[in-house]
Amino acid sequence: MKLFGNPVSRGIVIGEVMRYEPFKAVPSSSRIGEAEVDASLELYDKAIGMAMAELEETRSGLAERAPDKAKILAAHAEMLSDPVINDEVRRAVRSDLIPADAALAMVFDKYSDLLGKSKNAAMRERASDLQDVKNRILRCWAGRREKNLSLLDRPVIVVCGDLYPSDTVSLDRNNVLGIIARTGGSTSHTAIIARGYEIPAVLGVPDCMERLNDGDIVVLDAENGEVVIAPDDEERAACEVRASQVVTELREMEQWRCVKPVTRDGRRIWVGMNIADINDEELEHAAYSDGSGLFRTEFVHICRAGMPSEDEQYRIYRRALEAFGGKPVLMRTVDIGGDKQMERFGLPKEDNPFLGLRGLRLCFAQPELFAAQIRAALRASVHGDLRIMLPMVGSMEEIERAGAFITEQGALLDARGMDWNREVEIGIMIEIPSMALIADMAARKVDFASIGTNDLCQYLNAADRLNSAVESCYQEYHPAMFRIIGNVARAFAAAGKSVSICGEMAGDPLAIPALIGLGIEKLSMNAASIAQAKRVICGLDMSAVSELAREVQNLETASEVRELLQSFAASRAKRGGKAQA
Ligand code: PEP
Ligand code: MG
Repeated sequence: MKLFGNPVSRGIVIGEVMRYEPFKAVPSSSRIGEAEVDASLELYDKAIGMAMAELEETRSGLAERAPDKAKILAAHAEMLSDPVINDEVRRAVRSDLIPADAALAMVFDKYSDLLGKSKNAAMRERASDLQDVKNRILRCWAGRREKNLSLLDRPVIVVCGDLYPSDTVSLDRNNVLGIIARTGGSTSHTAIIARGYEIPAVLGVPDCMERLNDGDIVVLDAENGEVVIAPDDEERAACEVRASQVVTELREMEQWRCVKPVTRDGRRIWVGMNIADINDEELEHAAYSDGSGLFRTEFVHICRAGMPSEDEQYRIYRRALEAFGGKPVLMRTVDIGGDKQMERFGLPKEDNPFLGLRGLRLCFAQPELFAAQIRAALRASVHGDLRIMLPMVGSMEEIERAGAFITEQGALLDARGMDWNREVEIGIMIEIPSMALIADMAARKVDFASIGTNDLCQYLNAADRLNSAVESCYQEYHPAMFRIIGNVARAFAAAGKSVSICGEMAGDPLAIPALIGLGIEKLSMNAASIAQAKRVICGLDMSAVSELAREVQNLETASEVRELLQSFAASRAKRGGKAQA
């Protein structure tokens, strides 16, 4: 039997299913009798003991590999044994006859609400930690073991409804063989991270949670978007043959990684790498890129339980700059909101989070958060070529306001006697169509722009990038996408300012020729896409891509554009070519 979905990250694997579902606690709602008090408290102690043992096991497993995360778990262990909380829970059980699971939920919620309202950002962060600890105890109370994607004891194929960005960035890359999820399109963060980690993934598989159980053996074919459940011998053998073909193909492609990306007629294209969490595995790819055209700094927050301090952020940004050794790093200020929700920011529940308080809008609403990040960035700017990039910019007023804010933070550093680079460039992401349409005006105001095609596509087509039900409306090859990108490229070229693309289209081998033809000469992408992108670039001629760009803008439908891009790619592939450093 087969299930189908969107293949968003290449590869074919066979393995055992591990279902991953965040636990949803439902504490008891009725009162207990006096005779049940001791038994309820006994269950409470048992759950606390189990939670403590679990925390200790995970903490010691992470101590070397991820000391930051281990530190968070140590703090959680302290909360677990907090005497004030424990006394209050016991009192509520004994005096008010509230079952211990409901009592602990009540007490933890009380303290987390109090902390959540604090003016102090560090205190507010503790609120989400308390919720985490509460959920852990309640899960243990329900007798459910933790399924933690950052620490797996064997290789598995993860099957889930969806993954939070925090699940994806921390996942155990050696043991997650593949990902199958009910939701998520090709530009969802799960897809982006899976591609970055080179983990095969098929998303948008509607009934995966109903059909797949722990321990099932499946073939995950992320070349064709298929999941084969309980494959027979023949299907297994076929999978093994195809999997090794894909591995060979990818290995051959690797040779292009170190090549200089120059078209056949000598145009040097800038190929950058998108980065998120800063770790050795990610930064080892810096050497064969021209810099980072997108540093998604919100992952610096997502990967840590507490709000990183200004100093901590400074050290992280400095590390990124040093890893790129003087090459440009476009540090995007935090883009929280949309699908990157974090309890600690106390965001209101929104009906349309992608149209709500996200990116720069959230930074304006939480100036403390923005200020710490900007000061950290400015301080780091003396250690390399750091450029500040603002996400989700929708108007000229926002550019003005952010510029003034950055100037103010620079003045604060001056008052502290701290060094920073006064020439640091400030640019914007163009991902809201309004900005793309007034790109000529924006280009006069900012130092550079980078087009975020993932969001630009969702806003231009009015199709949620996460919703697989409207995947067919989310058309990256819509002729309007090429027209709007061309508009931005022309506007920035006319102003003599730099423009790049850092959305997923930048690493799409089919789209690259047309994008270059539109005048985009800087592309920033997942590390895993760089080799193939360089191979494509080295096979291009500027005159042919200009003609291609003209044609795609005059076609009527996305499928016509795709066909044209495919036939263009096929004609280049026939020419072949060898990787030359
Ligand atoms: C984009 O929107 O294209 C982009 C690069 O930003 P993100 O995917 O992080 O929203
Ligand atoms: Mg975006």
